[in-house]
Amino acid sequence: MSTRDTRILADFTALCMYPECPICALVRRAELRTVQVYCAEGAGDELRRADIRASRGLCVHHGAILRDARDALAAAVTALDVITNLLRDLTAVQQAARWPKPRMKSPAPCPVCADMTRYNRAVCAGIAAWADDVAFQNVLATSHGICAPHFRHIANRSVLPDGFIEAQRTAWERVHAEVAEYIRKRDDRFKHEPDANEADAWRRAWFVITGSSASAADVP
Ligand SMILES: [Zn+2]
Ligand SMILES: [Zn+2]
Repeated sequence: MSTRDTRILADFTALCMYPECPICALVRRAELRTVQVYCAEGAGDELRRADIRASRGLCVHHGAILRDARDALAAAVTALDVITNLLRDLTAVQQAARWPKPRMKSPAPCPVCADMTRYNRAVCAGIAAWADDVAFQNVLATSHGICAPHFRHIANRSVLPDGFIEAQRTAWERVHAEVAEYIRKRDDRFKHEPDANEADAWRRAWFVITGSSASAADVP
């Protein structure tokens, strides 16, 4: 994705109207798709099954997506596989010498996290390729901005054009001003003033601060 990908621009633009970071929204969509495809194949992807066995399941976030995917058979087949291996781990602990203290082996990292790390990098590179495009900057300026973890990832990999940084500043300053306004109106003296855009500003602020996709915080 080092050249400009118009599809990523179209997706980013469409997602800018929602409260969360557009990159986080793309990642969350990809996470769901990854788990749904696995389920749709009836957990029949042998390579993926082997990865999930090696990681002894999925991380808490991706495990919850599989649990909530409403595909009981895929979840059951995968669970049977993993618990069979957990029982083997238990046997190994039982049979290990009592000294030094027996330990369960650390499992491999969650395979969906590994996929999402790659996807995060690709999307961030795809967005960075549009950084000097004025139309892109205008869309970014009207949004709530790219979350701090994703922005740090992009900023740490390339010299960003001033227009891109300014657009991001406009977006973050708007969220900042709306949070300040929300807090001001909690004061008894101003409670009668009707809430406007700032009613859920604190929520958007947290989308900015932490991002809303599990992998956003630690994209290496
Ligand atoms: Zn984000
Ligand atoms: Zn994971």
